Amino acid sequence: MQFEVIAKCHTTRARVSRMKLAHGVTSLPTFMPVATQAAIKGMKILEEAGGAHQFQGWKHNLLTDSGGFQLVSLNKFTKITEEGALFASPFDGAPTMLTAKESISIQHTIGADIIMQLDDVVSSLTVGPRVAEAMWRTIRWLDRCIETHEKSGKHDVQNLFAIVQGGLDHELRDQCLQEMINRKDRVAGYAIGGLSGGEEKDVFWRIIKQCADKLPEDRPRYSMGIGFAEDLLVCVALGVDMADCVFPTRTARFGVALTFNGPLNLRLAKHASDMGPIDETCPCPTCSDGYSRAFLHHNITIETAAAHAVTQHNLVFQARMMGQARNAIIQGTFPDYLKSFFRNYFGDQGYPEWCINALRSVGVDLLESDPSAKTQTGSGAKWERVDTR
Ligand SMILES: [Zn+2]
Repeated sequence: MQFEVIAKCHTTRARVSRMKLAHGVTSLPTFMPVATQAAIKGMKILEEAGGAHQFQGWKHNLLTDSGGFQLVSLNKFTKITEEGALFASPFDGAPTMLTAKESISIQHTIGADIIMQLDDVVSSLTVGPRVAEAMWRTIRWLDRCIETHEKSGKHDVQNLFAIVQGGLDHELRDQCLQEMINRKDRVAGYAIGGLSGGEEKDVFWRIIKQCADKLPEDRPRYSMGIGFAEDLLVCVALGVDMADCVFPTRTARFGVALTFNGPLNLRLAKHASDMGPIDETCPCPTCSDGYSRAFLHHNITIETAAAHAVTQHNLVFQARMMGQARNAIIQGTFPDYLKSFFRNYFGDQGYPEWCINALRSVGVDLLESDPSAKTQTGSGAKWERVDTR
């Protein structure tokens, strides 16, 4: 991997960088769509196909996760031991162990450009000694992953990322950061894990800030599971370079289209006879090929084609937003971009208080020079338009 920071915001911690991987150059910050079921049915097929790039016909960069988080979040019978994650095989129910070594070997077979260490993930709502146990185990597993990766001969083309854990505890996060920074010469980048699990947003951004502030300047920083527009832009302002989330694709299947004026619930009756596109300025095939809001409203719950059309639009929305953020950072106008984005996106609803707090911590005041701006009332303020499932 070649990683080069090419522009920095003069006010916030945001930066634009160039990450060169085996399948091309990616400009950061970027949002990465998630393909949980990329039609990958078994490793044997993948090996014969020559890895996931050939299998999916995808010529660009790919990142794979280690499988630990997926096992814990999708399979309630998964048991974590010092050796790895013990789970019942989805094929025959037989007890199967995913070790650090095995996780790296699988990711070598898939052939993604960036691979993730196996980590011991606990919910961000977990408290007590389990959080420290998981953090220290994640460091031990990182060492096993590094060893397997370095011995494999694949470390020239595939890049291993460490995952910072430690829950919502600043002291544990600091210890984890220090241990992982000590291994800097043996990892290509860093992820911030263990967040987006239902914790308070005011706690969430402080952990992101703590990690982004301490992680090395010359390594990409990836916050896992972040996908709401406001979360992404706050993370970018705090110094995050990469993020992924199922949100834009999942919410599309429930009929929610993302726009610069906020999420649009296409299932609402007001769209039933609206012949306009989701967004007139959007270059995506859905908006430019004449799919109307009315068509999508009538078909979203019965027709997979309509769900695909909204999915495509939402991924283009995420890419446009991140592209605009990159341009603004390069042009030195990122603080203004944040203000205008939040104004358009939240409109009359007011800004989430945590966004105001987080952006103030890096020198941007969303409420400044906007007399009409206000904070959302009450902590439980919810948008009728958005469906985050
Ligand atoms: Zn569109």
